[in-house]
Amino acid sequence: MSDITAGWFDPSEYLIAGQWHDAPATLPIEDPSTGAEIGAIARCGAAEVSDAVAAAQTALDGEWGGLTAAERGRTLLRLSRLIEERAEALAMLEARDVGKPLTQARADARALARYMEFYGGAADKIAGQTLPYLDGYTVYTLREPHGVTGHIIPWNYPMQIIGRSVGAALAMGNACVLKPAEEACLTALAFARLAVEAGLPPGALNVVPGTGEEAGAALSRNPGVRHLSFTGSAGVGTLIQQAAAHNITPVTLELGGKSPQIVFADADLDAAMPFLLSAGIQNAGQTCSASSRILVERPLWEEAMARMSEAYTKLTTAPALEDADLGPLISARQKQIVQGYLSRDEGLQLLAEGHVSQSAPAAGHYIAPRLYATTDPANILAQEEIFGPVQVMIPFEGEEQAVAIANGTGYGLVASIWSENGARQMRMAKRLKAGQVFINNYGAGGGVELPFGGVGRSGHGREKGFEALYGFSQLKTVAAKHG
Ligand code: ADP
Repeated sequence: MSDITAGWFDPSEYLIAGQWHDAPATLPIEDPSTGAEIGAIARCGAAEVSDAVAAAQTALDGEWGGLTAAERGRTLLRLSRLIEERAEALAMLEARDVGKPLTQARADARALARYMEFYGGAADKIAGQTLPYLDGYTVYTLREPHGVTGHIIPWNYPMQIIGRSVGAALAMGNACVLKPAEEACLTALAFARLAVEAGLPPGALNVVPGTGEEAGAALSRNPGVRHLSFTGSAGVGTLIQQAAAHNITPVTLELGGKSPQIVFADADLDAAMPFLLSAGIQNAGQTCSASSRILVERPLWEEAMARMSEAYTKLTTAPALEDADLGPLISARQKQIVQGYLSRDEGLQLLAEGHVSQSAPAAGHYIAPRLYATTDPANILAQEEIFGPVQVMIPFEGEEQAVAIANGTGYGLVASIWSENGARQMRMAKRLKAGQVFINNYGAGGGVELPFGGVGRSGHGREKGFEALYGFSQLKTVAAKHG
């Protein structure tokens, strides 16, 4: 058993039909802060995934499918309270497993509880409609679950992404098969333990850790899965959508971005500064909705560069439990990817760099955050999602150019406008290609209540808020002729 889950659970077990099973094979758990192996998780394959999908279907045909919406909601509310009670333990697991600073891991644990609260409360508030039709008819719509839903989760925000996706799916009465990322499974397993404790009927939630190529691919091509939600890279998103297409299974894809913050000359730079910075370095830049591009109107350009540079020189990267500004990256592979981008920084001016703490073990995956400037928005570092602590500042002149640069990557997840001019705020909000636009703030994905998702290469479908409940259900129209 792993030292970090000792006294709580064995992380090498997986959950099917309410029963914890011994792993058929295992994968190591690595602590990104030290590079040390700290335990093992199950390496489930096609057989376990197939059993999990069958168990979910049995739950739908049995106890889980028979609950009222209010009973489902109450279960999620009990789960929310259990998460709150164990929030500190969950945060510790996430900090060790993902390498994220403890303060950020605590925020994720609170968000997980809040998702269960929001969706627990919403479960019995979703209704169909009655529709006008021909004389002598009564027509109404029913909102029904898809059935078995598959949830393929990344390693950067396991608790938040499980919360938004599994929370909404359960609220609507689906039965879930959850495939957490092989790099960070521990809070998914802890969440499932708490769900069982909260009285979630067997099979309503099944958890099958494993690799993407084995468990993930098996889940995305299983014909018993009637909806798939995926958050991760565009490459894997494409594979999942292809696999789902064979079974005509709908998919929700959230695939990251290159989200801009646009600072106009009339902006309150004092107010903007903390958001410009934190949206780039949060979770060491390994955030789908990270703001990796800072667009600044010429009159403010020099001042904004100077202030951002000064802020960067003060940033510290350190082991997760030291709770510094940044923790390590998730893996040696991720560090290699980020360093690969940094080695291609021709055409960019390196404005400033933070530092890695002397306390950081050599085998951890540390990287100092970097701030660049360029006048070329087409530069590769200003175009591609790096998924590391790297921000690029780009100057612009006027709204037209701001819109062209902001919309010029093919991605469209989040954007923000910093300006004191109300008419400009409204114009810009309409013209930006993004699933979320913030005015004089930046929410990195926003709150639990706010629909979230992308346009273009950032994906399709919306999670979070009430909108997710529509995505995790389908509409049936009933037309009765009674004369
Ligand atoms: P990253 O590249 O940032 O590690 P990925 O998009 O590869 O993120 O992984 C996100 C999730 O997708 C993980 O749970 C991973 O196991 C899963 N995954 C990876 N490859 C596949 C695949 N071919 N089919 C299904 N799921 C996959």
